[in-house]
Amino acid sequence: MSKTVKIHDLVFEPYIKNVTIQKRVKEIADALAKDFSDKKPIFLAILNGSFVFAADLARACNFDHEVSFIKLTSYEGTTSTGKVTTQIGLQEDLTDRDVIIVEDIIDTGTTIYTFLPTLKAYNPKSISVVSLLSKPSALKYPLTMNHIGFEIPNKFVVGYGLDYNGLGRNLKDIYQLKEVK
Ligand code: 5GP
Ligand code: MG
Repeated sequence: MSKTVKIHDLVFEPYIKNVTIQKRVKEIADALAKDFSDKKPIFLAILNGSFVFAADLARACNFDHEVSFIKLTSYEGTTSTGKVTTQIGLQEDLTDRDVIIVEDIIDTGTTIYTFLPTLKAYNPKSISVVSLLSKPSALKYPLTMNHIGFEIPNKFVVGYGLDYNGLGRNLKDIYQLKEVK
């Protein structure tokens, strides 16, 4: 049996193995290549959680692309606050660019939905949304998601870039909060 991990006060159990993640990352990269291989898109990864996924996705995409980051936060502990704040803004001019938003997880959708008007104001040529994880039952906004790695139930997860109050990002696999019985 694989091991549970304790982070702060909570116990998490293994959920998605790194090999499974890597297989999906490759599939998403292949799908992106079909649409963007001659377009030099810019990957816009949303910090902090997406840094691991963005690094793997970028290296799985063997066509020209740029990578940039913005920092938006909506979470405290294990729940969304519903309020999105920008902590590091955009540096690039995105006018006429194909922009691919790279997220770790879309939960309520608040983060992306709130950010889209800001992004659209730059008049990019196109906006696509790629997220490693999504929780369809938690979604509160009409969002178009172009590529999703895994649809998961509405349970808190950590690892592969995702944290619980700052810790757990370094775990290679994804772990799910263990139910207290
Ligand atoms: P949303 O704005 O869609 O509700 O939430 C998006 C952000 O909340 C994600 O980018 C992520 O940072 C955080 N988040 C949502 N669900 C989870 C989760 O299950 N685990 C962790 N660690 N972060 C989450
Ligand atoms: Mg995030």
